[in-house]
Amino acid sequence: MNTISDMLQPDRVPKQAGVSCRLGRILNGLTEEDMKAVERALNDTDTYPGTYIAQVLRGQGHQISEHSVRRHRRGACQCGFTA
Ligand SMILES: [Zn+2]
Repeated sequence: MNTISDMLQPDRVPKQAGVSCRLGRILNGLTEEDMKAVERALNDTDTYPGTYIAQVLRGQGHQISEHSVRRHRRGACQCGFTA
């Protein structure tokens, strides 16, 4: 029987591993080279505006908004929980 105390045992919490935001999922699907290029751009906020990164990815057929890029950069997306 699942009592509240049973359900709140640490090993009952559903695993969040593998959960990532839209950008995280796009990154996972890129080639190693492209992934590194995008990550480098994400880490260089002075050179690469989020709007530009989103534009480049959309040009390759990925549905991504600059909002999603900004959120990922801030670490406010789901990826932050698994990083
Ligand atoms: Zn993310």
